[in-house]
Amino acid sequence: MMGVFGEPGLVLTEGDGCYVTDADGRRYLDLLGGIAVNSLGHGHPALVAAVQEQAARLIHTSNLFTTPGQVALGERLLEIAGAPEGSRVFLCNTGSEANEAAFKLARRTGRPDVVVLEGGFHGRTMGAISLTSKEAYRAPFEPLVPGVRRVPYDDVEALRDAVDESVGAVLVEPIQGEAGVVVPSQGYLEAARRITRDAGALLILDEVQTGIARTGEWFGFQTLAPGLVPDAVTVAKGLGGGVPVGGLITFGPEVSGLLTAGQHGTTFGGNPLACAAALAVLDTIAGDGLLTHVVRRGEHIAARIDALGDARVTGTRGRGLLRAVLLRDAVAPQLVVAAREAGFVVNAPTANAVRLAPPLVISDAELDTFVDALPTLLDRAGE
Ligand code: PMP
Repeated sequence: MMGVFGEPGLVLTEGDGCYVTDADGRRYLDLLGGIAVNSLGHGHPALVAAVQEQAARLIHTSNLFTTPGQVALGERLLEIAGAPEGSRVFLCNTGSEANEAAFKLARRTGRPDVVVLEGGFHGRTMGAISLTSKEAYRAPFEPLVPGVRRVPYDDVEALRDAVDESVGAVLVEPIQGEAGVVVPSQGYLEAARRITRDAGALLILDEVQTGIARTGEWFGFQTLAPGLVPDAVTVAKGLGGGVPVGGLITFGPEVSGLLTAGQHGTTFGGNPLACAAALAVLDTIAGDGLLTHVVRRGEHIAARIDALGDARVTGTRGRGLLRAVLLRDAVAPQLVVAAREAGFVVNAPTANAVRLAPPLVISDAELDTFVDALPTLLDRAGE
């Protein structure tokens, strides 16, 4: 009997590179990367060495003390985000926690409401789930946190109408991952920036899934809207390469001054082990040229899937190595099972979309094995 909550599924025991191995010794190409988490794949020497070294030196101190790793990680995050002087980072452990911090930041504007987009996913804790769109996730836990307004995705007029003087912040995923890797129209993020600025509201980007090189730039907004300066960005998932670490980046002194010391905190957030892992991930991405690598691999897989010319595949969506393969028929869950039987780990955020979020270090040859198998997997999924 299983003593933890969760779906009975594959029992994974090892990982190497872009592969994971189950308890029976079967290997699978990991095209999900722990849901966009295992940035460097499994067992990357730089990440393993950083974690081992830090574990031997100092694992935990609490948030009452400062560590060199915390300072270094904060500086690195501000640098890659292009954040101006006076910006700050609040370090935490997960995406939900980062969004909880963002929610509190929004409340500190003195305006009660937050605008979120339909289809958005921001986590499962009570604050984060209040921001999340999916009714089925929210309904069992009502009443949730009040003051959340939901507007249609990618609709500039609807956003403009919703953002009035009661709105402290608009929270947007640059690409909606859980909704099936949905990319907004060109110019949408810039419009959201203008609307929030004009209304005196914050623009907060949830980069939990799109951040840390996933889309081919450090952050999704840099891929979709180069030059845009948000007020805050949340990160987690890929940052620690598998070690839990997240953060809220606040841009500039004014926004950074909204949350003061003691107003928010977490015992484990920014612990030495997490910071060492995150620094190793960021250094490896930069040192190994992974931003360009991600762009190329992303273009490659999209082109290969298009070239299949299979009528059961209606296209792909996404940027970099966050992609959805779109299916004509609602057989994505069956395709996930067929893929698993054939030695691939993928998942289905919707009935028509199969998500690929592999380790950033994946090769074209590895991606090709999946594309080559796709017609057969579709045969099996349709049976
Ligand atoms: N925001 C986004 C955009 C996410 O994709 C996720 C996780 N799927 C979260 C927040 C929640 O992150 P976590 O599961 O680490 O709490």
